[in-house]
Amino acid sequence: MGEPTPDANAIEAADEKYVMRPWAHPAGEPVIVARARGCVVTDVHGKDYLDLTAGYFVNNAGHCHPRIIEAVTKQLHEVLQVSGKHGTIPAIRLAEKLVNLAPRSIHKAFFSTGGSESNEFALKLARQFRKKPEIAYLENGYHGLTLGSLEVTASQKYRESAGKPLGTDNYAVPTAYCYRCKFGPHAQCKVECLDGIDAIFDAHPETAGLIAEPIQAVGGLAPPQKWWDRLDAARKKRGILLIADEIQTGMGRTGKMFAIDHYGLQPEILTGGKGLSGGVGSLGLTAASNEVAAGFFGGTTPTNGGNAVSAAGGIAMIETIFAEGLIDNAARMGRYFAEAAWALRDPWIGDVRFTGLLGGIELVKNRDTREVLGKLEMGKVKDHLHAQGMLITVSGLYGNVLRLQPPLSITAPQLDQFIAALRNTLRTVRGA
Ligand code: PMP
Repeated sequence: MGEPTPDANAIEAADEKYVMRPWAHPAGEPVIVARARGCVVTDVHGKDYLDLTAGYFVNNAGHCHPRIIEAVTKQLHEVLQVSGKHGTIPAIRLAEKLVNLAPRSIHKAFFSTGGSESNEFALKLARQFRKKPEIAYLENGYHGLTLGSLEVTASQKYRESAGKPLGTDNYAVPTAYCYRCKFGPHAQCKVECLDGIDAIFDAHPETAGLIAEPIQAVGGLAPPQKWWDRLDAARKKRGILLIADEIQTGMGRTGKMFAIDHYGLQPEILTGGKGLSGGVGSLGLTAASNEVAAGFFGGTTPTNGGNAVSAAGGIAMIETIFAEGLIDNAARMGRYFAEAAWALRDPWIGDVRFTGLLGGIELVKNRDTREVLGKLEMGKVKDHLHAQGMLITVSGLYGNVLRLQPPLSITAPQLDQFIAALRNTLRTVRGA
C-alpha cells in the first residue's frame, strides 16, 4: 500500500465532473494514478497495482525509470521545442539511433506527435511515392482512431465512431488468426487463408501500400513465417509498399527491437509511437527508405513533432533497454509467462500467445469447441483481477483475450503474483 493522496475523493469527483471519457468504464475504473515506479502504479487511495499494461503499452523500461527522468530533466534546461523546419540535438540523435536499429531498408526518420498521426503520414507518404490512392490493411488490424488512421482500422465499432462514411480507397486482406483457423489443424497449415491474395491485389491495381502490424497486438496474433513470406511476396510483386506499424510492437516489446525482425522482412516504411519517448509522450515516428523518403513533399509539419524533451526520453529509453538487457528479459519473461499460464491447466484457458512480452490469454467456455467466454464472465474476470491489484485490459476480436504487456523489466516473482491471482480469479468466477 502506498500513501493515500489527502484529497483523493475530491480528485475522483472532479474527474467525473470535468473529464470527457468516450467509453464506459468497468467497476473500479478509472484508476487515478498518483505515482508509478517500475511495474507498480499507486492510485490516489494508496492502492498498488501490478501494471500489466505498462501505462498503455508505453513504459517498456518501467514507469519513471531514473535514467529517463535524469535525461529528460537535463533536457528541460536546454531547449523544449523548435519549429519542425529546424532541429534539436536529441531529435537528430534519436533519428540516428532508430534508423540504425531498424531493418536495413529504413534510412530516414520523421517525427510527429503520436501513433495515429505517424500512420496518417505513412499513408500519405506511400500514396505520394506510388501516386496511387489505395491502402490494404489486415482484417482485425488496428492503426489508430483519427479519421485517416481509422480508414485502415478494421473494427466496425471504431469505424462507426467516425460519424461519417469512411473513404472507399482502403480494403482489408485476410489476417492470420491461427487459433481460430477455418482450414484445419495448425500443423498442416499451407497458408490457405492467403489463397486469394493475388486475386485481391489484382482487383486493386491502384494500391500504394499494405499497412500491418508484424504481430497483431490486439490478441497477440503472431503469424507463421510462411504466412508473412507469402503476403510479402504478393505485395512486392506489385510494387506495393509495406508499412510496418511498430507502434505497439516496437522498442523491444516482442523480445526483438522491432517485431518485423522476427520475420526478416524489409518494409519500405515503419511507424512507431507509444514507448518511443520513454513515457514522456507526444512522439510518433514515420521512417522510410531513402527512395520513399525522397518523395515526401511539404505540407506535413506537425507543430510539436519530435520535441526535444520527448526525444531525450526516447534516447534514454533505448539506452536503458540495452544497458539492462530488457529485450532479452522480454523474451525470457514471455516464455516464463506462457509456461506458467499453460501450467494452470484451467479449463477456461483456450490459448496462450506470447511473443516476448506481447501477450494474450484467450478465454473460452469450452476448449474443444473454442466457444468464446461471454462478456459477462469476461467482465467478472477483469473485475476480480482488478480487486486483487492487477491492472489489465481485455481485448481481441471477440473481447475474450486478457492482454498482458507489462514493462519489459518485470520479474518472475511479479509474474508469479499475477498467475496466482489469475488462478484464483478463474476458479472463483467459474464457481460463482
Ligand atoms: N497502431 C497501433 C498498432 C496501436 O497499438 C496504436 C495505439 N493503440 C496506434 C496505432 C495509435 O496510436 P495512438 O493512440 O498513439 O494514436
